[in-house]
Amino acid sequence: MTEIYECAVCGVVSKVGSNLCRPDRQEDIHDYCGTTRERGAMCTEIKGSLPIVCGTCGRPAKQADLICNPLMLG
Ligand SMILES: [Zn+2]
Ligand SMILES: [Zn+2]
Repeated sequence: MTEIYECAVCGVVSKVGSNLCRPDRQEDIHDYCGTTRERGAMCTEIKGSLPIVCGTCGRPAKQADLICNPLMLG
């Protein structure tokens, strides 16, 4: 089973928690994708290298299969 971590500060999701400033373990995609929640400023580390956002809910992600409608940026 895939491990999923959400950054508690900026909301980016990743399979590697150590990439995030405040990793928060998520059970599955439905726990975060398609939900709207308050998000703070994007973490500096993520901002420079963020490849993907969800076209439906706007959720940023490090891996495309972590979000419901992946949109590649650039
Ligand atoms: Zn963050
Ligand atoms: Zn989504």
